[in-house]
Amino acid sequence: MYSMDLIQKAKNIRKTILQMIVKSKSPHIGSAFSVVDILTYIYFKEIKKGDKVILSKGHAWSSLYATLAELWKIEKENLINTYSQNWSRFGWHITLWSMEWVDATAWSLWHGLSIWAWMALSLKDNYIYIIIGDGELNEGSIREALLFIATKKIQNVILIIDRNRQQGLGETNKIIAIPKLHTVLSDLWWNTIEVDWHDFNNIENGWKELSSEKPNVIIANTIKGKWMGTMENSIYRHYKTPDNEQFNLAFNNL
Ligand SMILES: [Mg+2]
Repeated sequence: MYSMDLIQKAKNIRKTILQMIVKSKSPHIGSAFSVVDILTYIYFKEIKKGDKVILSKGHAWSSLYATLAELWKIEKENLINTYSQNWSRFGWHITLWSMEWVDATAWSLWHGLSIWAWMALSLKDNYIYIIIGDGELNEGSIREALLFIATKKIQNVILIIDRNRQQGLGETNKIIAIPKLHTVLSDLWWNTIEVDWHDFNNIENGWKELSSEKPNVIIANTIKGKWMGTMENSIYRHYKTPDNEQFNLAFNNL
């Protein structure tokens, strides 16, 4: 039954993001919609006091602001009206101006895992959820952090890879491919789980496979722009803002 609540929360969050991005004529709606269900599940189902959530794919930060608004930690109308405006505290990428609500900035991508690999050592009683985009896997620092965490057997990190198979300039497997990602991560000593992340029941089943012996990575198979109708799975949604007609169609479908 809880699943219906999560579905409604995710719809509300997408509606907020849509309004934020269209009002400010901002990019990255596809990236934000891709990660909404991941944030919804963590924030409304799993997170405990003291846990950390690090959204390393910083260009999707509209989704985290909107999730915090759904939790009443940010005032929703203010967020919609000021997102990405001059002097706003809510920019495309998270900055120090928003540190009241979060634990890390992500103006440059691909640092989330490296930074928090170290921090995890001092936060042993809490989980640290680190969400990276599949495009971030191109970066060498990610590989270093994967090896470090596995070697040190850091078990309170749960790494979630938002695998929508697209990144800023095209399809991930045409830019820097990682064939057999599941096998690669398993071979690096990570407990590797793979789920369809737009189905909350599926996520819950995947969650049961978390290991207490090894660090955990969840390959979250997602769709860029999920629930945007004809705008789903489109690389143009990395940059293009929906026009009024597309806004109305997407908003009314949610
Ligand atoms: Mg991607």
